[in-house]
Amino acid sequence: GRGYKAAAAAGRARDPQPLAMSSLAAVRAGYEGFDPRAYLQNNYVPPRADFSSEDCVVPWKLRCLAETFASGEIRGRTLIDVGSGPTIYQLLSACDHFEEIVATDYLAVNREELRRWARGEPGTFDWSPFIRHVCKIEGRGEPWQDKERRLRGRLRRILPIDVHQPDPLGAPLRPPADALLSAFCLEAVSPDRASFARALAHVGSLLRPGGHALLLGALGESFYLAGAARLPVVPLAEDDVRGALAGAGFALRDFRSYLMPPALKTGVDDVAGVFFAHAQKPPEA
Ligand code: SAM
Repeated sequence: GRGYKAAAAAGRARDPQPLAMSSLAAVRAGYEGFDPRAYLQNNYVPPRADFSSEDCVVPWKLRCLAETFASGEIRGRTLIDVGSGPTIYQLLSACDHFEEIVATDYLAVNREELRRWARGEPGTFDWSPFIRHVCKIEGRGEPWQDKERRLRGRLRRILPIDVHQPDPLGAPLRPPADALLSAFCLEAVSPDRASFARALAHVGSLLRPGGHALLLGALGESFYLAGAARLPVVPLAEDDVRGALAGAGFALRDFRSYLMPPALKTGVDDVAGVFFAHAQKPPEA
């Protein structure tokens, strides 16, 4: 018969589960040290959040979202943001088009940070430059305080989530979301491309047929820092994102990418670029 080694190799080929579990466990362990304040400081202050230059990464992200929501086509009752982290910039254009924004994160420290911002507690991160900038590029002359108030009012549910579970919220969202947004989450919590693709399919199940999905994320990144934590990231190419969207049953509507300029390579990660994808779940047959 076959030797032990051959049998073991065949077993591994059939069932990659033990290996996948251990690398997922490593990602989870990494997030135990995630420091929201350090993460915000690394990514959401100058030079990355420099509003004097449209070529800078944060204004690029905000413009992708503002332009996409400006069509008026993406709207409804509920938008769910997956892996919100301690940030709200990704919701600023979205919040005008939905009655409710559901924010989610795996970590309690991030959900707490969002809750404190939504309640207007003192000492939270200052998002006002982001809100001002979005009001400016949306060009409706809206006072930024009005947008801040609207987002706070619509951010009513901040839920725990794990994108590695087939049912990421632990129970189906009822009714399912009219739109799905996720920024820099799936690739930052997945040990490999297969795990990224599965996570995308899991979160896709939260969206109603015909609903829109907007993804922002890192290209070619292998790690990022958030205080003492060094988080592994699956380095994605543009085609990995397109392939995962197609595999999860989405039709691609728009795809854009941004090349990280050398001046923004600050050592807090090794990101090569950023992608933006707008996709749509086909309407029910
Ligand atoms: N969306 C924010 C942004 O655009 O800056 C935060 C992105 S941060 C790179 C990745 C987020 O994924 C963190 O907030 C982390 O807590 C969250 N996360 C970690 N493990 C997760 C999991 N299994 N499911 C969902 N989110 C997870």
